[in-house]
Formats: sequence, structure tokens, C-alpha cells
Amino acid sequence: LRTLETLNFDNSYARLPEQWFQRTAPKPLKNAHLISFNPRVAKHLDLDPCQSHPDALVRYFGGEIPVPGASPLAMKYTGHQFGHYNPDLGDGRGLLLGEVVNQRGERWDLHLKGAGQTAFSRFADGRAVLRSSIREYLVSEAMHGLGIPTTEALCLIGSEEFTSRIGMEPCAMLLRVSRCHVRFGHFEWLYYSRRHDELRQLADYCLQRFYPACLDADNPYLAMFEEIQTRTASLVALWQTYGFVHGVLNTDNMSILGETFDYGPYTFMDTYEPDHIANKNDDAGRYAFFRQPAIVHWNLACLAQALLPLAERSQLETVLERFPAQQAEFQLRRQKARLGLQGKDAGDAQLVERLWQLFKQQRTDMTRFFDCLTDAPDTESLPEILTEFTQAAPQDWTDWWTRYQQRLQHEASSAPIRRQQMRSVNPRYLLRNYMAEEAIREATQGDYRLVNRLLPLLRHPGDLHTDLESYRQPPPDWARAICLTCSS
Ligand code: AMP
Ligand code: MG
Ligand code: MG
Repeated sequence: LRTLETLNFDNSYARLPEQWFQRTAPKPLKNAHLISFNPRVAKHLDLDPCQSHPDALVRYFGGEIPVPGASPLAMKYTGHQFGHYNPDLGDGRGLLLGEVVNQRGERWDLHLKGAGQTAFSRFADGRAVLRSSIREYLVSEAMHGLGIPTTEALCLIGSEEFTSRIGMEPCAMLLRVSRCHVRFGHFEWLYYSRRHDELRQLADYCLQRFYPACLDADNPYLAMFEEIQTRTASLVALWQTYGFVHGVLNTDNMSILGETFDYGPYTFMDTYEPDHIANKNDDAGRYAFFRQPAIVHWNLACLAQALLPLAERSQLETVLERFPAQQAEFQLRRQKARLGLQGKDAGDAQLVERLWQLFKQQRTDMTRFFDCLTDAPDTESLPEILTEFTQAAPQDWTDWWTRYQQRLQHEASSAPIRRQQMRSVNPRYLLRNYMAEEAIREATQGDYRLVNRLLPLLRHPGDLHTDLESYRQPPPDWARAICLTCSS
């Protein structure tokens, strides 16, 4: 085991061309203190999960003292924001501290978010506020708990420093931990600034580091693009299956590893409403829930465009054309898993589609529906515990239920095994906006207990957490009034 003083850094990105980043030291937060530490993530770095060493965490990740072995830098990238190319992006308030290689040989980026101004801050302050930092901290664990690829977070640091957002708000720092901080926008930057030799160098770096299996392909760059697309298709399929709205799907917020990346005004919908827009600043609804697959496809086309110097246009296009079918197949697979369906049947897509139509008609709380269903998937007539979801159209539901029961007969697995499998994909709890709001409200008053109690609940959302059982119930009425914006 290591300590924060002896982390095994090997900073490969810092050895790349100097013009790809700006070396910058974090700016310390005023009166920094520890809010939360994630022992599960500590293990990625070979840190002792049982010992949080709060003083050391605060010193290093509150920006006061450089982490030994780190080489902090702000990465340059660009990207398409709301459909328009912006050449002026880059890490404006976060720093890549370095890469830790653990004893299993895994390489983990440490990125300190809220670390102060950089060369890419434009007119902004380089800070992150407590509100958005708590939201990112919690959702990172929630995504992991649901098996949805995501960046993670080691710790959350609070402060007595304030900055202006929705009024004056306290600042915080979050240590983001992820295998990858390379975005689609890194490639777009080198493509649009016509530095195609450097573009190749970046692609080679990514191949070596993230996609070594592609090096054997006829065109490794094309193979890497295919792999990025496959992972991204699988990712958005999971978002659609759990009602997750990212909120700001700009190409600078797209990881080339297919992880959910850069959390802002995200939402897990309380009730299924496909036209839901998470971000109040998104007037046109470009990033509405139902548009996410098409938007992600568009973002992949931006990446493909940036790879034109490295691969044939026609070949990139052929890959891109496969996206809708790929995404739909991943989505159907997970939707079926939520219903306990493992085998294949000709009517599966229809059965699932009909169910999601019913969800839409009735604005169903999907999380609670599947939670209840998991306890009673195979009874001949519609089970009592589902009646609260089916009142609006009982006949439609009875019809659907009959088809579902017929379909279950074709499954090979036994009922107990099926329930176990369903529980593994159907959480009892989900990170609803109001839960994050409650944690934020308490934290703003200096009480960090709820943040810390939510962490294990989100890590194992299929387990029973009897002390927090109320979070299994429908959200309170005030949850509907929560308004999220880009301001963070
Ligand atoms: P985002 O909307 O979080 O994807 O951020 C878009 C761009 O704005 C990125 O280049 C960020 O680094 C930058 N940015 C966001 N917030 C701040 C801030 N408070 N200070 C400096 N730069 C910021
Ligand atoms: Mg961003
Ligand atoms: Mg952001």
C-alpha cells in the first residue's frame, strides 16, 4: 500500500509535445477541509481504503502543496458546443495532476477540478462550487453502482472561499479519477488547426495507451474509431435504459473511452418523459433525453471528421452508418435484462417497445416500476404491487402482461435465478435530483453526513439500505420544481 506521498506516478501526457498543454499549479482554496473520501476509488491508486488521512488529502487536493511526483497541467482541446465549433476551449478550471500506475499495472489519471484559473479560463474564475461538486461526486458513484461507465472521484474538498454563481456560493475541489481524459475535442483541435502530424501523434498515443489491440488492424486508426464508437453506443444505450439525461453533450464532454464525462446539469428522470431537457439553458432542447442517441452519433461524426487525415472517408462513413443499429441492439439487450429476458425471441423488440410506450403515456417512475417488478416477475395475472403503475390503462397493461408472461415461458433460467439477475440491473435506489439537493442543502450548512451516507447506497443500489429506505419511495412534490443550469 502507498500513501499520498508515495503514489506511483508516471506522467506520460506531460511528456507529449509542450504545446498540447500549459503547466499550471493549483491555486489553494481558503480554509480547505475534507468533505468526503471514497475508499473504493482509493484502491485504484493503491491507497489504504481504511485510512483516509484527511490532513494529507486536504493539503494535496485543496491545492496547498504539490502532490509529490505529480506534474500538473491544463490540457488544450476544442470542441463543438451546441453544434458550433469553439476553438477556445481547454481545461479552464481543472488540472491533470498526473497518472498513477497501480500494482495491477492500471494507469489512472488524477484530475483536480476547481483548481483555479489556467491559460484556458477565458473570463471565468477557474473554480467549481460546492453544489456542482457534490452532484459530480455522487453521480460518479451512482453510475458506477449501475454499471454505467463513468469517471470516478477520490475525494471532495470544501472551503471557506466564495464565488458568484446563483448568488455567492462556496467553492470546492473534486479529485476526478479516470483511465482517460482525452476527449473528442482533443482530436478536433489538431484537425482544425491543420497540424496533421501532431494529430497522428495523438492518435498513436491513444492507440498505445487505450486501444493496443487495434494496433494489429490494417488501419489501426480506423479500428480505434470503430472501438470508440462501439463503446459510445453502448454507453448511450445505458443512459436511455435508465432515464439518464447528460445535459451538455458537447464534443469536449465526450471521452474517447466511452465513459460518462463532465457532469453538469445531468438528471435521472423521476418519471419517464422522453422530451425532458435537463439543462434550463438549452432552450432548443438540443440535448433532450430522446435526442441523446442522435446527438452522440453526430458527435462521433465530428470525431470521424477529425480523423480524415488518418483514415479513408468512405471507411469512416461505413462505420458511422452502423451506429443506430448498434446502439439499438445494446439498448434492447439491457432493457430486456431489466425484464429478466436473456434469450432471443422474434417479438422481443416489440414487447420492449410497447412497455416503454406505456411508460411514456403514463409518465411512469421506471426505477420504482422495475424495483417492484423484480420482486414479482412471474405471476399469471398482473401482480398487486404493480397496480399503482397500471391504473391509468388497466387493459393495456393486462394485455402487455399476458405477452410478457408468455415470453417468460421461453426463458431457460429458473425463477430464483431470474430474480437475482433482475436485481443486478434493477436498483432499489437511484440518485434522484432531490436527493442531491438535500445533500447539498445540508452540506451548505456544514453538515456532510448525508453526502457520506448516500455514497454506500449509490455504490450498492440493489442492496437494502434500511436507514435510507425512504429514498425508495416516490420523490416529494418539491422535486418537480428543481431547476438545473450550466452554472457550476
Ligand atoms: P463545460 O460546460 O463544463 O464543459 O465547460 C466548457 C469550457 O468552459 C471548458 O473549457 C471549461 O474548462 C470551461 N469552464 C467552465 N467553468 C469554468 C470556470 N468556472 N472557470 C474557468 N473555466 C471554466
Ligand atoms: Mg466540459
Ligand atoms: Mg464541466
